[in-house]
Amino acid sequence: MLSSTSFFQELCAAKLSSTSRVLTDSTDKAFQQCLLRWSDIGRSTPGAIVLAGSEDDVVTVVSLAIKNSVPFVVCSGGHSLWSTIGSEGFILDVRDLKNISVDDASNQITLQSGILISEANEFAWKHDICLPLGTANTAGVIPMALGGGLSTFSGIMGYTSDNIVAAKMVSASGTLIRVSSTENSEFLYALRGAGQIFGVVTEITLQAYPISILGTSDGTVWTGALIFPVTQAEKVYSILTALSVNTEAPTMGICIVTSTPPSFNTSLIVIPVYFGEAKDAEDHYRSLLDLRPFSTCGNVPYPKINDAGEAFGVKGGFKRWAGAGLKRINVDDWMKVISIYEKLKISCPDAVPTGYAIEWNAYAPQEKRTNFEETSFGHRDVHMWAELLSWFTVSESHDQVIRSEAEVIKLLCQTESTEPRSVYQNWTRDAPLEHMYPGSERLERLKALKKKWDPNGIFTSLFL
Ligand SMILES: Cc1cc2nc3c(=O)[nH]c(=O)nc-3n(C[C@H](O)[C@H](O)[C@H](O)COP(=O)(O)OP(=O)(O)OC[C@H]3O[C@@H](n4cnc5c(N)ncnc54)[C@H](O)[C@@H]3O)c2cc1C
Repeated sequence: MLSSTSFFQELCAAKLSSTSRVLTDSTDKAFQQCLLRWSDIGRSTPGAIVLAGSEDDVVTVVSLAIKNSVPFVVCSGGHSLWSTIGSEGFILDVRDLKNISVDDASNQITLQSGILISEANEFAWKHDICLPLGTANTAGVIPMALGGGLSTFSGIMGYTSDNIVAAKMVSASGTLIRVSSTENSEFLYALRGAGQIFGVVTEITLQAYPISILGTSDGTVWTGALIFPVTQAEKVYSILTALSVNTEAPTMGICIVTSTPPSFNTSLIVIPVYFGEAKDAEDHYRSLLDLRPFSTCGNVPYPKINDAGEAFGVKGGFKRWAGAGLKRINVDDWMKVISIYEKLKISCPDAVPTGYAIEWNAYAPQEKRTNFEETSFGHRDVHMWAELLSWFTVSESHDQVIRSEAEVIKLLCQTESTEPRSVYQNWTRDAPLEHMYPGSERLERLKALKKKWDPNGIFTSLFL
């Protein structure tokens, strides 16, 4: 076994593809660039960053790391708090694996681990098809899908993970395996919700859908931002209480308490979505529009669907997600959430970009709902999420920000009195396992798979 330093030298000498890069100088510009993360919370400086240039590189690097017992983490788009490691280990960065292709007959898209959400959406659009992906344009498609994949389109196409039909993964023994309903099929269950815990997925095949599923003649989606002053909050939440549980109308949406420029007064940003023509959308959202918010809404081409929330995806600063599944919007609770946010703004002015949101996705038409198989994603019955984005720039604010976040979660969950809570595994790894992977059968199955395929915890010790 080699020391970490000798191991990094061996990595440099390893037979990797000509497009691979091994960065060991932490003062180097390229090293610093690769180290950028969506959040600086817990961000460490690794002993090396290996940018794989090919799938074979991933096999070689993982095998070498296992042989020498050197820890590593994988990074695709860098939007989680977990793709970071200290000087004892290295980052296996798979951002340069950028192949993407479509099988026109089946509408299935196969993409590699460097493909980001905006890139996959653009590619699908060019082929008149669409995918149910998440809202962060710059997040990696593969990690998002492997963690479950909450999508604007979940009501009409299922969760992203439901649509994983095949994958290639480098396992904890350093071998490349294929996963599908006919090959290593037990992994298909695991990859659809718990896939970041079993190996490095170099490629996935996703089921896509004809663009007509969006309900418009030209593949557009009605969305944008509606901005309300906080003085209208009670009215807005009252209207959303009914809209958010409507299972008939082809909609979903999100309402965020935050501060907006130029005044940075507390405001509500509602990002409504309607799968259909503008006139029908405006009729559906009439009660909100009648409050005369500042509006950017209209029909946008499907790949532009995430642009209204682009500001939340930038890299740098201290950020973290927390949240819980909810059943309804309780107006009184959300008015108290606004007070908590405003108190936070006074005690930690640098935490102004923090946003406390409620997202709903109740639409589930029988004719469009596909009967998806049981998977390791256990939140199928959650149609509403409290999504708390804590965002601050001064490290001393950390504890107060966490206290505010905890106060909001406690408040919202107390009213619901739902135990165990649903917590989305792509936002946190601090929650109890049974909150992230609900159901004892699911948990037992995942623990057994982990014991069999990664008993030494190469890809985290979760489930061991
Ligand atoms: C602004 C914002 C909006 C978001 N919106 C949504 C949303 O709408 N829906 C949703 O579901 N999620 C959403 N998320 C969560 C996001 O999907 C996850 O954080 C996702 O894991 C990020 O992927 P990444 O490649 O950017 O992150 P990374 O930090 O690179 O990776 C995330 C995790 O996956 C592991 N990993 C990376 N690549 C691989 C691989 N190839 N194989 C196996 N494991 C790998 C990493 O080790 C790490 O643990 C959002 C996040 C942000 C910051």
